[in-house]
Amino acid sequence: MDIRKEYLEFFKNKGHDIVSSMPLVPDDPTLMFTNAGMVQFKDIFTGAIPKPENPKATSCQLCIRAGGKHNDLENVGYTARHHTLFEMLGNFSFGDYFKKDAIAYAWEFITVNLELPIDKLWVTIHESDDEAYELWQEHIDASRIKRFGDKDNFWSMGDTGACGPCSEIFYDQGEEDFNSEEDCLGGEGDRFLEIWNLVFMQYDRQKDGTLVPLPKPSIDTGMGLERVIAIKEGVLNNFDSSNFQPIIKKIEELAGKTANKETIGSYRVIADHLRATSFMLSQGILFGNEGRPYVSRRILRRAVRHGYLLGFRKPFLAKVYDTLVEILGSHYTDLKSQADYIKEQLTLEEERFFKTIDLGMSIFNEELAKTTDVFSGAIAFKLYDTYGFPLDLTEDMLRDKNLKVDNAKFDELMLEQKTKAKAAWKGSGDAATEGDFKTLLEKYGKNTFVGYEKTFENSVI
Ligand code: ATP
Ligand code: MG
Ligand code: MG
Ligand code: MG
Repeated sequence: MDIRKEYLEFFKNKGHDIVSSMPLVPDDPTLMFTNAGMVQFKDIFTGAIPKPENPKATSCQLCIRAGGKHNDLENVGYTARHHTLFEMLGNFSFGDYFKKDAIAYAWEFITVNLELPIDKLWVTIHESDDEAYELWQEHIDASRIKRFGDKDNFWSMGDTGACGPCSEIFYDQGEEDFNSEEDCLGGEGDRFLEIWNLVFMQYDRQKDGTLVPLPKPSIDTGMGLERVIAIKEGVLNNFDSSNFQPIIKKIEELAGKTANKETIGSYRVIADHLRATSFMLSQGILFGNEGRPYVSRRILRRAVRHGYLLGFRKPFLAKVYDTLVEILGSHYTDLKSQADYIKEQLTLEEERFFKTIDLGMSIFNEELAKTTDVFSGAIAFKLYDTYGFPLDLTEDMLRDKNLKVDNAKFDELMLEQKTKAKAAWKGSGDAATEGDFKTLLEKYGKNTFVGYEKTFENSVI
């Protein structure tokens, strides 16, 4: 079953317009990347722009959660369900249908179209949402509806404005395979797999915190395609599904070995990171030292480091890329039409890091052998500055050793260097970034270049 198509057609038949995925770089300086299907409709929800003629829309949105408020980078390879880049299916009502229909549609889709067994489904609602509790009971036994607080089941766009309770659908993958303490409903484990979040935008939060009911409440939903594919294929980990397996197999073939318990994480990280960086390149995000290009660089260098662990000593991702195109190229045609360019850029960036990774790794290992408590901030800075190891990469390498970097020292050295650099660059223009900027301009015109100087940490979504 082509679940993406099935979903969009399902909602089209319910009167929704199919809207295409918006760019990964939103036209919104407070947001690092598009991280949910609702981002392109934000201004409609807030009322800043008028509603479209058809107040019902559906989409399959490419999302990145690797920066800003939503950051799943540290989860990749450690959980069975998180990716840096993923596809979010969504249906939206702009003051049209509300809770009753949103719940009924979601239930119909997962039980009739997807044929998920009802006895494995669970639902969470906001503790205050008696209306949702009543409505869900038309579909599912009350014992399977659980109430949670604001942290899990209340959504807001910002400190003020549209907000409301949400309701999430979970799929129980069974305690046999998942039995850690985290594997409870609402826990961080993978047993109860969250598949779909239905947001009921029904309040307008005032400056003083009071919730004023919206005259025309709205619906925003999001369901992770990779998770649904995995469930449908009966595998317990997204990376074991047909979306990722061919990529992992290809990496195994190139590495000349098969994944085992110790190494499987590396294959998964590489597969995930290849997807994210390739899509970013396909949308004009190059590798660089600041802002979004630096996020891309950090992701790629993590992939290279895992490749290094598997024995790669020179660029290999371009050889894996064609497998990615086989999986996603027919829907995301840019991956196909820009294949040569993307492979070239991947290879160039890999080459840059492969040049220094050997020395960097030996410096890292030397220091590690001496470390008992905290990893030296000075060495972490040297790795960053001279060998191109982003700080989060060094931190990641220390993660399974339960060690942390002396961040205060690192920050101090970073600040020192920035101050020096500023003094040295005074009056010399910004030639370093000019090249990248020109390429972007030629390719995508003026609108897609978003200033990187703004802080993304204020991201509200
Ligand atoms: P989780 O609790 O598993 O981290 P979430 O609550 O952060 O998920 P939402 O913000 O509710 O996720 O997004 C809607 C849906 O998008 C989720 O129900 C899930 O199916 C999917 N999703 C969210 N984050 C990811 C990710 N990093 N990789 C793949 N799918 C994701
Ligand atoms: Mg999350
Ligand atoms: Mg969640
Ligand atoms: Mg959620």
